[in-house]
Amino acid sequence: MTNFSQVVSIDPAVCTGCRRCSEVCPVDAISGAEGEPQSIDTSRCVICGQCVQICSAFVSPFDDAAENLPAMRTGRGLAANDSATLFAAHFRNDTKRVGDLLNNPSMKSMVQCAPAVRTSIAEEYGLAPGTLTPGQLAASLRRLGFDAVYDTIFAADVTIMEESSELLERIRSDGPLPMFTSCCPGWVRYMESAWPDLIDHLSSCKSPQQMAGALFKTYGAEIAGVAPESIASVSVMPCTGKKHEAARPEMQSSGYPDVDAVLTVTELAAMLKAKGINLAEMPEEDFDVPMGLYSGAGVIFGASGGVMEAALRTAIAVISGNEVNESGVKFVPAGKGIRRASVEVAGRTIRAVIVSGLANAAALLEDVRAGKADFDFMEVMCCPGGCVAGGGQPKLLPGVNVEEAIALRRSGLYRHDRELPVRASHKNESVLALYEKFLGKPLGHRSHELLHTHYGTEGGEH
Ligand code: SF4
Repeated sequence: MTNFSQVVSIDPAVCTGCRRCSEVCPVDAISGAEGEPQSIDTSRCVICGQCVQICSAFVSPFDDAAENLPAMRTGRGLAANDSATLFAAHFRNDTKRVGDLLNNPSMKSMVQCAPAVRTSIAEEYGLAPGTLTPGQLAASLRRLGFDAVYDTIFAADVTIMEESSELLERIRSDGPLPMFTSCCPGWVRYMESAWPDLIDHLSSCKSPQQMAGALFKTYGAEIAGVAPESIASVSVMPCTGKKHEAARPEMQSSGYPDVDAVLTVTELAAMLKAKGINLAEMPEEDFDVPMGLYSGAGVIFGASGGVMEAALRTAIAVISGNEVNESGVKFVPAGKGIRRASVEVAGRTIRAVIVSGLANAAALLEDVRAGKADFDFMEVMCCPGGCVAGGGQPKLLPGVNVEEAIALRRSGLYRHDRELPVRASHKNESVLALYEKFLGKPLGHRSHELLHTHYGTEGGEH
């Protein structure tokens, strides 16, 4: 079992007991009487941070609690003079840890950014949700001091290579089916804690964050000509659960932690502002090669349904030999947060399900448990709408139309997908070179060692 500080907490000195957090918690992990401070049952919590997103109770300078502001800030890992608003529900701050890694001259720092970061971080600079800033993001991370500015989307493309091969292998060898995606740590934690008997249905693939980290400390170390232990591996995520995922003991298959520190979008924005870096005014720069080159399929991982669409683009090409920019598969609503489709490829039928929002997965899991599942492959994203609505995204304050903002972030990702010259993961030249020079083939020995894992040991820890 891991031993690390709690990622998501509710400060009883600030909580007003409005209970809005308990309404959005997908696993009923928050309890407390109305008007009283709420508490989190850490054995149930999946660390999605939806409570952090919705919480509107904060320390006002006129509150009694304001006297303790400097101490509260340092208790949350912030500088005593940090100007961030302190909300009751919050996540662990890792900016100091990342600052220390960047200031260590003996470390070579490598950073990755999840897809949903580039469609939301501009909101921290007053721009509209969905404003795309991939080039400015790369430039800002370089100014912050990272030696190599790589991209999680490269690893999302690698995930598709591995996961679609795993699905085809399971179809050929009779299971276990249906197979579930495994890139969302909230979903994985829910499976581990509430449905451990179905754990073999989860793909053995690590998430793109962890795949990228494992490659930084091996392939990246070879490219940079440095020892793995001198690489500082940092990620920028829309997700609070990724802080927990990075600390899992399984996630160090190179012999070192895949990811040393995780920043949310809001933490990165705070670090940039503290250094006077205005992302909105940065020139557009490219991510570094080879692990910063990405396809449109990897981009849409950041929105519900995107992993499925990316997997189908590659599966259709591999099974039928027909290259497609878009799968063309139309998913139809089949209940709250659920969409379904059947795909005929070269005489095979793949029955696919997309679930948006963890609470909507339970009925389908009951079917799997009862042996009645009528599907082969299921994508589940814990946050409603996917990572565009993650707990580490810029906070959508009262008065903002949340659904509209999430839809704009989502459409930003799909726009970026359409703009890119390469739109399928198996066509990403850097991914093909990775297999040729380093990994061998999908599901090969090295892939198994570095990019796959065994889930099922983390259910009770927060
Ligand atoms: Fe994290 Fe995305 Fe899953 Fe939300 S949907 S818990 S942001 S990976």
